[in-house]
Amino acid sequence: MPDVPTAPKARKFRGQVFIDWDRCKGCGFCVDFCPPKVLAFSTDYNSHGYHPPFLANEEGCTGCDLCGLYCPDFAIFGVRVPVGGEEPELASAKP
Ligand code: SF4
Ligand code: SF4
Repeated sequence: MPDVPTAPKARKFRGQVFIDWDRCKGCGFCVDFCPPKVLAFSTDYNSHGYHPPFLANEEGCTGCDLCGLYCPDFAIFGVRVPVGGEEPELASAKP
């Protein structure tokens, strides 16, 4: 039986990250260990003079929370959000 092309599955979840801007020490663990490499360093400084990360590719985040597991300062975490569902209450601390 020949292969029949199928439409890509619609995503049921998307990822979202929350960053406590002023807790970050700029170590880069989250940026380095994010599996899909969707984090990047901001060019802005936080109040301690570090460059915190930001979500550079919103579509690529899976919400796996590996960034949160690796962060030594509890400054970032990821969550899975149902597509079309309500936004989480938390707000990013990035100014
Ligand atoms: S939740 Fe996962 S995919 Fe999203 S930024 Fe963190 S490590 Fe990367
Ligand atoms: S792992 Fe934590 S402290 Fe290090 S750059 Fe990422 S958010 Fe900042």
